[in-house]
Amino acid sequence: MSIEYDYLFKLLLIGDSSVGKSCLLLRFADDSYVDTYTSTIGVDFKIRTVELDGKTVKLQIIVYDVTDMESFNNIKQWLSEIDRYASDSVCKLLVGNKCDLVDSKVVDTEKAKAFADSIGIPFIETSAKDSINVEEAFLTMSSEIKKRMATQPTVERRPTVRVHVKGQPIQQKSSCCSS
Ligand code: GDP
Ligand code: MG
Repeated sequence: MSIEYDYLFKLLLIGDSSVGKSCLLLRFADDSYVDTYTSTIGVDFKIRTVELDGKTVKLQIIVYDVTDMESFNNIKQWLSEIDRYASDSVCKLLVGNKCDLVDSKVVDTEKAKAFADSIGIPFIETSAKDSINVEEAFLTMSSEIKKRMATQPTVERRPTVRVHVKGQPIQQKSSCCSS
């Protein structure tokens, strides 16, 4: 089987239930939006191939639900989990979804931006529903990963694009039981 891409990046969407991760994934991968969309197996996985600077980049995107608590307050916890389990050079982006709901905004743009600035990661507000900034969010991440790969020595490349999700099988079709 020939490899039809220049890069393969794995993106992981982490956050509390119902913040709109699956809808963001659906919007980006299929350009669709379903109000009542629910994941049937607890993890959503989609692939989209994009062109970046003349290179073909295949994006494998996984959505991972965590808990049902106050979302913004949990971000620090997710970040510490990322720092603990992922490579130091992993790219991060803080996404504030449902920006179309201007009248029921829970976290001020300024507050979220200030928080993201304080930990040195970019911040973007999106709407999966109205298709605002969704492309930008995923493409920003992809460009950032590609940029980091270009500036790193070859031996560092492998960890750059890998984020391991604990105990989460991605492809279940074959050889899932190797021990
Ligand atoms: P997940 O648990 O993080 O995967 O959240 P979902 O993607 O399932 O979204 C939960 C619900 O939030 C969906 O059923 C949608 O009704 C709603 N939702 C998701 N994205 C948006 C958005 O951008 N704007 C609005 N207004 N609602 C959204
Ligand atoms: Mg979901």
